[in-house]
This record gives sequence, structure tokens and C-alpha cells, in this order.
Amino acid sequence: MRQFRIGSAFGIPIKLDLTFLLVLPLFVWIIGSQVGTLAEQFNQALGTGIAAGALTSPAYLPWVIGTVAAVGLFAGVVLHELGHSVVAMRYGFPIDSITLWIFGGIAQLTEMPEDWRQELAIAIAGPIVSVALGVAFGGAYLLVPESLPAVQFVVGYLAVMNVALAAFNLLPAFPMDGGRVLRALLGRTRPFARATKIAADVGKGFALLMGLVGLLNVNIVLIAIAFFVYVGASNEAQQTVMKAAFEGVTVRDLMTPAGEIRTVTPETTVADLIDRMFRERHTGYPVTKGGELVGLATLEDAQSVRPVERDAFLVEDVMTVDLVTIDAGADAMTAFMRMQEEGVGRLLVADGGEFVGLVTRSDLMTAFKVIESSGFASESGGPGKRRAVERAPEEFRFER
Ligand SMILES: [Zn+2]
Repeated sequence: MRQFRIGSAFGIPIKLDLTFLLVLPLFVWIIGSQVGTLAEQFNQALGTGIAAGALTSPAYLPWVIGTVAAVGLFAGVVLHELGHSVVAMRYGFPIDSITLWIFGGIAQLTEMPEDWRQELAIAIAGPIVSVALGVAFGGAYLLVPESLPAVQFVVGYLAVMNVALAAFNLLPAFPMDGGRVLRALLGRTRPFARATKIAADVGKGFALLMGLVGLLNVNIVLIAIAFFVYVGASNEAQQTVMKAAFEGVTVRDLMTPAGEIRTVTPETTVADLIDRMFRERHTGYPVTKGGELVGLATLEDAQSVRPVERDAFLVEDVMTVDLVTIDAGADAMTAFMRMQEEGVGRLLVADGGEFVGLVTRSDLMTAFKVIESSGFASESGGPGKRRAVERAPEEFRFER
């Protein structure tokens, strides 16, 4: 168990990731060990008079201040994520959960909006909450009497950090908030996939820049965030481009129909199965018994038996009986996501409960490459794929 639930708000479960438990003490330490210096910086910047000396005695006081400030900071992160979530829910996108982890918070959207106005509103809502918190703490900072230096410090710290959090998140480094804002703005005049591609490229550029600055300053956190941004930008760009390419393509279009599929029987030996895989250069066979589908035997299944024992084992001993199926009418992207989620390379295609075919990851990847090379990437519009490129952004509605 990597995550545990600590509560909920607006019906959204709020979870802590185990990695967060490493970050919290680190922040307590960073804040606690610097209270004196930070207080002096606040005094200089804001013209206030926090008694910096009073923050360090008794000796445990800095750690109490550090703990309260760190918990307050992460509560601010949760509120930031709730800002995104509440707006997303208003548009009808369910939120799985809000999770605090090593790099802050994530609000898990089950699906991403493709309407630029909705994306803009959802992306900007988090930073708006953070700025509002910063302003509120800033106001409170001016009201706290100087006889309470510890309270003054915590309130001032939270004012500065919430504004900093908003500013950092607004860097146009997709998939951070600023990158989503950028994509939404680009999406006003461009197809969604094109806007994503540009925003992702800008995000990757920023990630490289952050990584470089991180390396020069030996700042491990910055290097890690840069890596996270780079991978996130690449993944989202690839998925979006695929989704646009697969527009209107269903599983039925790409599957191998049942009639053309080579099957094996449960009584086939594993040695014969491997021999067939080698001859037919095929790594997965549906297993049928008297015309009925009973399982799926893949190369991986076959390899679970040691070579010397492959004559003694039958397909029915190693085959997967827990079959992952998909509807023939489902779109190709859904099939791709399904394979990712289930960690499988092939799906059995069903139509009204009947087995009608098989679709593999390589079927999808090959189809994607063909669509892409037929003009999608260059935006000139390939055969049958023009719609995905030429649709006006206004037409991108969420239809599921
Ligand atoms: Zn955010």
C-alpha cells in the first residue's frame, strides 16, 4: 500500500502518498533551521519587526514553528488542488482523488477536457486559490500583534509561499498549470492535438532549462521536477496526438476477425505452442475448445515453463483464463488505454457477448503510424483523416 486516505472534501478522497512522508520532515527541518534568517528577510522586505531572536528559544520552538508552517503549506497545496477539482466537477469531470506526494499535490482527473475554455478555467483555478490564500495570509500578517512573533512568522511565511506556489505552477511547463493555460490559449485557434504538441514542446524546453539550472546549482529537487515535467509532457503529447489520429477509428476496423485467427486447443503441449509461435511469428493465441473460447496463451505464459518441461505441460496449464475483452464498437484509443491499464498486449473483441476478433498493441501502433505518415503530423490531412486536423476548436466537445 503506497497511499492512504486522510479524509475527504466535496466528496473527493484526499490521500497521502508514502513519498510525502519523506518530504514533510524535510520541510520541517528546512523551515525550522532557518526561522531566524527568514524572519529577518521578512522584516527587510515587508518593513515589519518580527523579533527574530525570540523565535529560537526555547530550543524546540523552531521545530514547532517549522511543523506548523509545513503542515500549513501542504494544507495550502490541498486547497490549490481542490480549486482545480471543484471547477472540473462543475464541468462534469469526476475527480478520482487528491494525492499529496513528493512534488506536492495532484488532482486526478479521470478525463481531460478538450474545450479550451473549460481547460483554462480548471487550470487557472488552482493558482487563483493560492494567490487568494497568499493575499489572505498577507492581510492577517499585518494584523498579528508583534507580541506574537511565532504566529507572525508562520502567517508571513504562508503568505509568501502560497504566492510562490502560484507563480511556480504558472510556469508554462506542461503538464504544470501554466502549460495547461498555454495549451488552452493555443487551442482557441488550433486543433486540440496541435495545441498540445506545441505546449508539450514548450514544456520540454522548460524542463531542459530547469534541469540545466538544477545541475548547475546541484539542486536535486529541481532536477527531479524537470524530469517529471519532461516525461509528463511527452506522455500527454503522445496520448493526445494518438487520440486525434484515432478519431473515428473503432476496434472493429483494426482487429483480426475471429475467422482469420489461428487458435490452439487446451491439449496442445507448450513445446508445440512455442514451435508454432516461432513458425508463424505470432506471440498470442486464443485457446478454443469445441469452438468456444476458453483462454489466451501468450509467449510470456509459455515461457513460465522451463524448456526441459515444455513437453509435459499443456496450454491449459499455462493459459490466461482471466480474459480482458473490449467491445467491437469501442474506439481505438479506448482499446489502447485499456491495454495500458491492464498491462496486457492484446484484447479479445466481443460483440454482444460473442467473440468476434482479437486486437493487439502492435495492430494499434501500426495503424497509428500509417495514419500519422498519411499526413496527420504535417497537418496536410491524410486520406480519411482530414477531419481530425481540420475540425475547428469550437467543435471539440466532450462527447462521452
Ligand atoms: Zn495546480
